[in-house]
Amino acid sequence: MKESMKDSKMKNLKDVYFKLKTAPTKKLRKVKLNLFKTSWKEKTEPVWNFICPTCKAQRMIIGGPRPKQKHYVQVGLTSAVFTLLTWPVFSWKGLVSFIPFWMVFEIFYRIKIRALVGCPHCGFDPYLFLSHEEKAKQQMKDHLEKKYEKILAKKPEPPATS
Ligand SMILES: [Zn+2]
Repeated sequence: MKESMKDSKMKNLKDVYFKLKTAPTKKLRKVKLNLFKTSWKEKTEPVWNFICPTCKAQRMIIGGPRPKQKHYVQVGLTSAVFTLLTWPVFSWKGLVSFIPFWMVFEIFYRIKIRALVGCPHCGFDPYLFLSHEEKAKQQMKDHLEKKYEKILAKKPEPPATS
């Protein structure tokens, strides 16, 4: 009894799917498309788009050069929790902890962005270029030499012509 119920249900589903697959109207086709869409909201992070100034490669970094409002809220909440936890010791003066928390956060944020901003294609590091131009040029040269050495090593030797 149960089996046949299941069977008829499956048949029904197959019918529905077939109808949708061969749906003649736009409305039904839309329903079909919606069946395969996830109901999860996709996370949309702001993306920092720019072009590498030396090799013109399209670069994309999640986040941005400067901390966002979201980060102020996060650090603010951290210092609020810290204030509550240390209330018997510092009372409301614990809120001053926002400053050291922010300093630590910004150090890590800058290190992260600095590491990401260097171009993986040509080895150009804008931060280094601003402070030590010659060093940045040397670094780029080393990067490109290594890159082409690898490419040349992979290439089979051309047959000797005699
Ligand atoms: Zn580049």
